[in-house]
Amino acid sequence: MSDIIAREDAHTSGLYQKRALAIVRGEGARLWDANGHEYIDCVGGQGSANLGHGNAVVADAIATQARSLASSTELFYSDRRAELYGVLARILPRDLDRVFLCNSGTEALEGAFKFARMATKRPRVVATMRGFHGKTMGALAATWGPEYREALGGDALFPGTAHIPFNKTEALDAAITPETAAFVIELVQGEGGVRPASPEFVAEAGRVCKTRGALLIVDEVQTGFCRTGSMFAIERYGIVPDVLCLAKSIAGGVPMGAIAFARSLGDLPKRSHSSTFGGNPLACAAAIAAIGEMERLDLARCARERGEQLVDGLRGIESPRIREVRGLGLLCGIELKENAGPTIKALQDRGVLALGAGPTVVRYLPPLVITAAQVDAVIAATAAALS
Ligand SMILES: *Cc1c(COP(=O)(O)O)cnc(C)c1O
Repeated sequence: MSDIIAREDAHTSGLYQKRALAIVRGEGARLWDANGHEYIDCVGGQGSANLGHGNAVVADAIATQARSLASSTELFYSDRRAELYGVLARILPRDLDRVFLCNSGTEALEGAFKFARMATKRPRVVATMRGFHGKTMGALAATWGPEYREALGGDALFPGTAHIPFNKTEALDAAITPETAAFVIELVQGEGGVRPASPEFVAEAGRVCKTRGALLIVDEVQTGFCRTGSMFAIERYGIVPDVLCLAKSIAGGVPMGAIAFARSLGDLPKRSHSSTFGGNPLACAAAIAAIGEMERLDLARCARERGEQLVDGLRGIESPRIREVRGLGLLCGIELKENAGPTIKALQDRGVLALGAGPTVVRYLPPLVITAAQVDAVIAATAAALS
């Protein structure tokens, strides 16, 4: 393993905070490092592995499509893209029946902001404190985390982006004005500490956006594709936004993002947005297979059942170091009264790979195929790590 680490370290950008672990293989919710040590995966590709590792149906679909046609842009129509649009239209709310395909979460947010500004002819975006929407320039302006923006001139990045307190319903009315193109929100803040939005906040956001003529953008890059116990978290909140951003698990691990939006946005200027890899047949084939597998395996139910098991188990741990256990579906976190780093390391030493979410939260984002026995093992490892 140390030779892999040395070879990467020789050329890495240096931008990532890496753990000294080379992961080389996965199966379901299990991972193996280069020394053959086995782990239960509660990082889940940071949300891109909802379907679990090594899914054979997705692997076969990728291989078959790669042999037939991997590259073709939106200059032409495509059988695979047409098929994927049909699949997305079937699982999305009826009003969100137009889709722009791209390659990542941040790219979905970039497009969403552009679409909102073009459709409303307004300049401003309102986002939430602790929100995370990606790290390219436009998305980064909506991302909270002043530490990510400091070196770039902070709020000069994308002038006119404001952040309001998450779940503070009273703040919406003053923040969303006739200048506002869109309000953007995660229904469960992932990176920001596993914080579910209150139904009142979400409902009021929808109401204020409607009365002010601003668009509601819901960022389901992390909550989408069964993570919170339904195909999309908007179903749990009973809302239909104007724009829905998707990525991470959409294509079973192949890079892909999508912006689903309402026809009421009107016609956007031709060629005002595009992406060479967007909607390529290889990614589309992977997405069709992945979504089919999510439905066949009923991953929404898995997320509800295993999520309840995990949250109940974590709540049962008696430790003075725990402040709160939170979650929706299988997006779960423990907020500690201390820095989460040592606990994440202690979990790793006990064979569980978990994730941070802000300085004090241990986040669990396992593949949704995780078994009941594996969840029990995660709970036991956490109890030991916090004892
Ligand atoms: C991960 C994430 C993004 C950014 O996605 P990338 O593919 O890393 O660019 C945006 N929004 C949310 C809610 C995310 O969790």
